[in-house]
Formats: sequence, structure tokens, C-alpha cells
Amino acid sequence: MAVSISLTPVPEEPGEPADDRSPARGKAAFNCPVCGAFAHQVWHELMLDTGTPTDDGIEPPVPGMPFPTVSRWRQAQCTSCGKFSTWRRDRLVYPVSNTLPLAHTDMPAPVVLLYNEARDVAPVSKRAGAALARATMEALLRHLLENDTDQLIDLIDQVEPLVSRSLADLLMFVRHVGNSALHVKGEPNDSMVLVLDEETTEAFNALFVIVNRLVEELITEPARTARLVGTVPETVKAKVEQLRAKRQEAGG
Ligand SMILES: [Zn+2]
Repeated sequence: MAVSISLTPVPEEPGEPADDRSPARGKAAFNCPVCGAFAHQVWHELMLDTGTPTDDGIEPPVPGMPFPTVSRWRQAQCTSCGKFSTWRRDRLVYPVSNTLPLAHTDMPAPVVLLYNEARDVAPVSKRAGAALARATMEALLRHLLENDTDQLIDLIDQVEPLVSRSLADLLMFVRHVGNSALHVKGEPNDSMVLVLDEETTEAFNALFVIVNRLVEELITEPARTARLVGTVPETVKAKVEQLRAKRQEAGG
């Protein structure tokens, strides 16, 4: 059986806001998912011929039925890099887009492995991505607190006084969402709907941003402070300590 894929040019679909450069089916130009450049796109409809050659040419897949004239599949060719992105209906299927942040450079190595796994699986399954992001946070907290026994909820209680208020609130959100991703019963709650919604990415991306912020606040920032304080002469440190002690006495 002869199988071939034919490319049929299709016209652009107008009506997109000019300032939105994200990739979408039918757009004349967008940020190319292959090379990243904002470039004009040439669209082609993908048709699959599965017929065998006959005297009349090609037989349709089902004898007696015409070839389908509309395909669910399309490709857009980028005029900057020349490469194709592949679409099924309105969804980009190749290359898999991943706008999630990379792991923080100071993230401990064993945690990076989990983080990258969560990041890689996220474009395919948001639920798996959310669950793995929660596991990543748990591994990071175990590492930071040197605690191998407590539940995540207890680890969060222990780390809360060490981080900013906004990060503490976000930790609560991650714990909630991660739990919901693993234990689905009946209707999903509001936070879960927010994270699993295919259209919005902010809440889902936040799961990964939060893990990086934990690294920033609990590893990077203390190390930076220690480096700077290390350059202050002992006499100056002693003077400041005296002033602090006086202030404390005066304050009660
Ligand atoms: Zn390109």
C-alpha cells in the first residue's frame, strides 16, 4: 500500500490581535516554536493518502468513498528557520512547547532531577506535572531541613518562618494543588481547575516558580549575604552588635 503525505497550502486566518505573538493555528506570524523568532508562517494542510495506484490514479482509503477534503492536521513553515510546526486542530503537537522556567542554578542536584522530570512531563500531562512539582518541593524541603520523616504539611510548617510571607502563602497553594492532582474525587476544586485549565498557564507555571523561589530565598540569598558579611571587619561587626544590644534593651 502506498502511503504519502501531501502538503496543501491553506490561506491565513485573520482576526488575531497584532500584539499577541504566541503561536496559534492559522496565524500569519508568531514566535516560531522551533527557532523562537517572530516570523511569518506559511500554512499547509496535511493529507494522508493510503490508496494504491490503479489505472485511474490513487484509490481512496475506503473503496468507493472520496478522499477527505479537510484535514485535522496542519503544518506551519517558519520563514525564518524554514522548519515546520505541526498542529492537530487548534493544538500545537510538535515541537512540544515548554515555557516553564529552568531549574534555579543553585538547586541541589537530586532535586534538579525531579524538577526536570516535572518540567518535561508537564506539556503532556498537567496532572502529572503538578504532582511531580509537589514531589520536587517535598524533596527540596527535606534537603533544606535535613528531615526525612515528616509529612509535607509539617515540612511547610517548619519552613514557613524562614521565608517571606508571600512565598509562605504560595507554598500553601502548591500543597493544596499537588494533593488535589493526586487524589481526585468528584468535582475538582477552584485551584485545581485553575492549574489544569488548558488555556491559562499562570497558576500552573507558579508551581515551578515557587520551587525556584524556595532555592533563591533559602540557598542563594543566605550564601550571598554570608559572602558580603565576610568582607566586613570584625571591629565593625562588634560595634554593630553593641548597637543592636542597646536597642534591644531600650525596646524592653
Ligand atoms: Zn523558525
